[in-house]
Amino acid sequence: MSKKVLIIGAGGVGNVVVRKCAQVPEVFSEIMLASRTKAKCDAIANAIPEAKIQTAAVDADDVPQLVALINAFKPDMVINVALPYQDLTIMDACLETGVHYLDTANYEPKDEAKFEYSWQWAYQERFKEKGLMALLGCGFDPGQSQIYVAHAAKHHFDEMHYLDIVDCNAGDHGQAFATNFNPEINIREITQDGKYWENGEWKVIPAMSIHKPIEYPNIGPKESYLLYHEELESLVKNFPTIKRARFWMTFGQEYLTHLRVMQNIGITSIKPIKFQGREIIPIEFLKALLPEPGSLGENYTGETSIGCQIKGIKDGKDKTYFIWNNCKHQDAYNDCKAQGVSYTTGVPAMLGAKLMMEGIWMKPGVYNTEEMDPDPFMQQIGIYGLPWNETVGLELPHEY
Ligand code: NDP
Repeated sequence: MSKKVLIIGAGGVGNVVVRKCAQVPEVFSEIMLASRTKAKCDAIANAIPEAKIQTAAVDADDVPQLVALINAFKPDMVINVALPYQDLTIMDACLETGVHYLDTANYEPKDEAKFEYSWQWAYQERFKEKGLMALLGCGFDPGQSQIYVAHAAKHHFDEMHYLDIVDCNAGDHGQAFATNFNPEINIREITQDGKYWENGEWKVIPAMSIHKPIEYPNIGPKESYLLYHEELESLVKNFPTIKRARFWMTFGQEYLTHLRVMQNIGITSIKPIKFQGREIIPIEFLKALLPEPGSLGENYTGETSIGCQIKGIKDGKDKTYFIWNNCKHQDAYNDCKAQGVSYTTGVPAMLGAKLMMEGIWMKPGVYNTEEMDPDPFMQQIGIYGLPWNETVGLELPHEY
């Protein structure tokens, strides 16, 4: 097999996707990395001398530019690891040029901190008609988290009732304040209202207002905050027996204190302000001050732990099941010169793309990862760096 892949976005995740695709030359025989700033693509490509990686500049907000690049390189698929703002333009360009698509975060309009799948699900018929596939949200969460749920549904439950996705970063990057993925997207995500699914409807709560300690494997208890996370939307649609679905993420006190101060002074705002005669968006200015997520890897210690706890029925009996991955930041650095959050996103993106290119996950239309057969992914993901563990019973991570 010999497939050409175009990777868009030369940030923390882009670096991992390029390196992981380069480790599988039997599938990804030609790789191009394109991003807004070509120098960042060149820096990544030059750091992987063992692979031949082409680079290009592209403004992924601009469909004609994307179409020209795709027509010149002629990839079999595009892996979009730029920002969620670019999802629709890249999908439009894929439709126009006839190539498959994968991303790791759902579309968000730039002027409103609101993410939902409706915009991308609306492409379903157009992708089907063209015989193309779009796989949405194939990072860790979203992505691998939903594949865990699909695996649980297939192998462990007759009916799933309660789902808690638990996401812990117990790492230390040594900076007073930094975000592990794009700061703008990260801060927009956690400063919006929290939301969870219960008994057929969304319950909205003030941001970060529900929290409790959750026990993470090999880490111990960590204060975890209920957030809205995009995979909840597709999971409750695809597994309608779920009565309650929640997403929890850990934050340290230092991080929360910085965030509160920044919110109070208005520097996390997405509303434009006038500054010295020109318009700026405070959160974009803040992003320019913060460390790049891709730069945090070298001295990052500790590990991440992301898993799904599910309660439901098997053979007429109650069952509680927990499946998770722990990833050490230093292992991520050793494999890909990356920190654990970029790594846990980029590895599933490569494997999802590989399964698409091999025809194992290939079907025309727009899909979320839990709609794919979980078995081939679960068989291979450990080989590429993210092995999983499971336990039955109520040992971890929290009591109901
Ligand atoms: P970074 O900010 O490190 O990288 C984003 C890259 O996209 C940068 O190189 C940036 O270019 C480029 N970019 C931005 N706008 C454009 C544009 N208009 N045209 C071309 N390139 C553009 O972010 P991350 O690598 O941390 O995150 C990448 C994606 O992964 C995000 O969508 C994020 O939400 C998602 N993610 C998903 C996770 C999951 O588990 N599913 C977890 C973590 C992240 P420049 O440097 O020039 O600004």
